[in-house]
Amino acid sequence: MRILIIEDEPELLAAIKWGFEETGYAADGADNGPDGLELAQTNEYDVIVLDLNLPGMDGLEILEEIRKDNLEQRVLILSARTSFQERIEGLDMGANDYLVKPFDFGELEARVRSLMRRAFIQQNTVLRLGGLRLDTAKRTAYTTSGAAIDLPQKELSILEYLMLNRSRPVRAEELIEHVWADDMDLFS
Ligand code: CA
Repeated sequence: MRILIIEDEPELLAAIKWGFEETGYAADGADNGPDGLELAQTNEYDVIVLDLNLPGMDGLEILEEIRKDNLEQRVLILSARTSFQERIEGLDMGANDYLVKPFDFGELEARVRSLMRRAFIQQNTVLRLGGLRLDTAKRTAYTTSGAAIDLPQKELSILEYLMLNRSRPVRAEELIEHVWADDMDLFS
């Protein structure tokens, strides 16, 4: 799963990015509006975490631009703006969820996971394929007998993506788009 975080507070951006990487997701970050929009339009992200007050371009403008050509993109707005009106405005413009700062990383992670499941119409945190189970909350896969499979995080992310897209072939390029971050130099 690949996430884009657009947030101009350097410490917060670094903390969120680190948190998702620890979870095993690929995470790209942008600390201003224009760079964030460019990444959003260049790469495929499973979820975009978007701050509202950003230098260069407001988060709501970015959301509007993203929605012009991508209605399916999952976007979670992260903002200190707490007024009811602004929250409604964000949701009206097509945000899929909204989290007010300050927040607990665990809650952000749970909401992002929920958005990913919605993207794949997956109701449960546990993916199943034959006897194989993958618990997306615990980030662990289990065999038919229930034994945990010792998999590194990247391999687990590849397995997760393939299980979520079980009904069709997945190309290497697509897998790379969804499992690795932008700063990795890769050969398929
Ligand atoms: Ca900000």
